[in-house]
Amino acid sequence: MRYLQPGNAVKVGGRIAILLYEIKDSVDHWGVLFLDGDEVEITYASAKRIRPRIHHCWGKDCGDSVDSVNNLTCPKCHWLICNVCGRCRQDGCVDDNVKVESPPDLWLDEEELLLL
Ligand SMILES: [Zn+2]
Ligand SMILES: [Zn+2]
Repeated sequence: MRYLQPGNAVKVGGRIAILLYEIKDSVDHWGVLFLDGDEVEITYASAKRIRPRIHHCWGKDCGDSVDSVNNLTCPKCHWLICNVCGRCRQDGCVDDNVKVESPPDLWLDEEELLLL
C-alpha cells in the first residue's frame, strides 16, 4: 500500500505526524502536522525523512501490530486502524479536528524549500 497519502499517520524525524499535502516540486516535499507537541505545528518535510509509523493495536484482546504501510489511518482520530479488530485510538475514536484537505496558510518559495 502506498502510504505517502494525505491524512496518513507517519513518522518524520522520529516524531509522530500526519501527512497533509503533497507539495509538487522537484524534491518531493510534504506538508506535515506534528502531533506530539503542545501546539499544532505544521511544517514541510522532504519525503526522504518520512517513515512509516509502526505501533501495536490497543486492544488487550488483540495486540496485533499496525503500521502505515499495511494499515489505514482513521480519518477522524488519525490513529492507525487495526486490521484484525478495527480499533483506532486507544480510548475510542475521537475527532481530532485536523483538516487534511484545507491548504496551509503559508507557502514557502522554492528557495526556502531547498533549505529543508
Ligand atoms: Zn486489534
Ligand atoms: Zn478513529
